[in-house]
Amino acid sequence: MITIIEKKSQIPTVDLINKTSHSVFVVDEEQKKFPFKDLLTNKLKRIGKKINDLKKTPIVTELQGGGIICWVMASDNINLFQCHTLLRKSLALIINEKPTDISIMLQVEGKLSKLWGEAAVYVTLLNTQSLPSHKKDNKNVPLKKLTLYGADPLIDLNEISSTVVGNTLARELTITPPNELTPTIYRGKIKKLAKQNKWKLQEYPMSKLKKMGAGAFFSVGQGSEPQDAAIVHLSYEPKGAMESIALVGKGICFDTGGHNLKPAKYMSGMHEDMNGSAVVLGILQAATLAKLPIKLDCWLAIAQNHIGPKAYKQNDVVQALNGMTIEIVHTDAEGRMVLADTLTLASRKKPKAIIDFATLTGCMHVAMGDRYSGAISNRPELSCMAIGAGAEAGERIAGFPYDEDYEEDIESKIADIKQCNLEGGPDHIHAARFLGRFVENNVPWLHIDLSSSNRKGGLGAVSSDVNGFGVNFGLKIIHQIMKLRFKI
Ligand SMILES: [Zn+2]
Repeated sequence: MITIIEKKSQIPTVDLINKTSHSVFVVDEEQKKFPFKDLLTNKLKRIGKKINDLKKTPIVTELQGGGIICWVMASDNINLFQCHTLLRKSLALIINEKPTDISIMLQVEGKLSKLWGEAAVYVTLLNTQSLPSHKKDNKNVPLKKLTLYGADPLIDLNEISSTVVGNTLARELTITPPNELTPTIYRGKIKKLAKQNKWKLQEYPMSKLKKMGAGAFFSVGQGSEPQDAAIVHLSYEPKGAMESIALVGKGICFDTGGHNLKPAKYMSGMHEDMNGSAVVLGILQAATLAKLPIKLDCWLAIAQNHIGPKAYKQNDVVQALNGMTIEIVHTDAEGRMVLADTLTLASRKKPKAIIDFATLTGCMHVAMGDRYSGAISNRPELSCMAIGAGAEAGERIAGFPYDEDYEEDIESKIADIKQCNLEGGPDHIHAARFLGRFVENNVPWLHIDLSSSNRKGGLGAVSSDVNGFGVNFGLKIIHQIMKLRFKI
């Protein structure tokens, strides 16, 4: 990030505001006096609106000096997701002009001041990052300076910018076209990141996985040429940290569906099927920058799901790392295959908790659309925490059941378990029940099915379609688990 961020306790003078080019002014209902109140009142009168309408729709006024102010009203009866959404829509009016300098003025009282100040900085930084583009005329104008006036002294700018860097990394990787992010290239990028951030790196390539007996992962990786799939293990170990949390990410660089080939409409965008692993990398990056005092073990299941003479087929039976045999039912259910062995590896290290992120099932998408992601856990408390952490992050999560009797639907006549079933039903729950069978040592495990990883026109704080959903949530839930001293 190249933006210089400054925090100032006072609102600037009228003269100084007149010299700014792009400003956002956040006021609350308590404010009787603030700079340029007349300008705002006149505009509201002209367009037949009241000042309280700013709680829902931002308004722009022009300054004599040529600059613009976008006005928003803070209120305490909306949640953080709504606050982010309002700020994203307001800031879009300014960011569209590609400014190099943005001022945020906060004339807000009490506890709202910290929340809205943090949210305004977060949303501004997120939406001024440059993302990969292959257009000849794509001119990236970086935001050089962001100043927060009237800032609450407790606002931690470093924590916000760390989260933004993590979210941006997740989006960059997810947006990258599949010919530019094959497993080989992706693994190269991860090696570079590991070096920069001093993360320990260990790779489990196909040859090693075969020897270890990780047949669930191997069955997917065998269909690609070159056979460059791998499980990548990264560790962040800050000095003095004792306990560790494991993060697991699905990293399917392209998903054709395999022999049960997807039709064009559903194959389009399948380079984003590695989003879970990108979210994990984003969390790790943000945690490292923010110097989070906890060990993180990240396990990335990187592969492609291709067709070809070696690709796995329906009715194959394969044996997973934990010894269980799996009957293949649908080759497009590759995510749970690569995650199964990865979860076994992660759980064998006995972390305090495992959180996996995966664009796993169409069913979760059917259940909630692309506005929410779903959580399923082998501990009901962890599911509840996920909902809370989602609310705290402005990234909405809903909980789904994990009852044992759902597993009757994936009983196999020939193997220990079926990969999924063709009769329909709640595949997002079946997938979780399936995955749960590969978590060893009864480790508390939370599964996040990322149905909201891409929403046209943006979601919450983020205006790009691919939104990095999960990075902020992940950081918040790690904080919550730490606060509970890992007693889940
Ligand atoms: Zn698939």
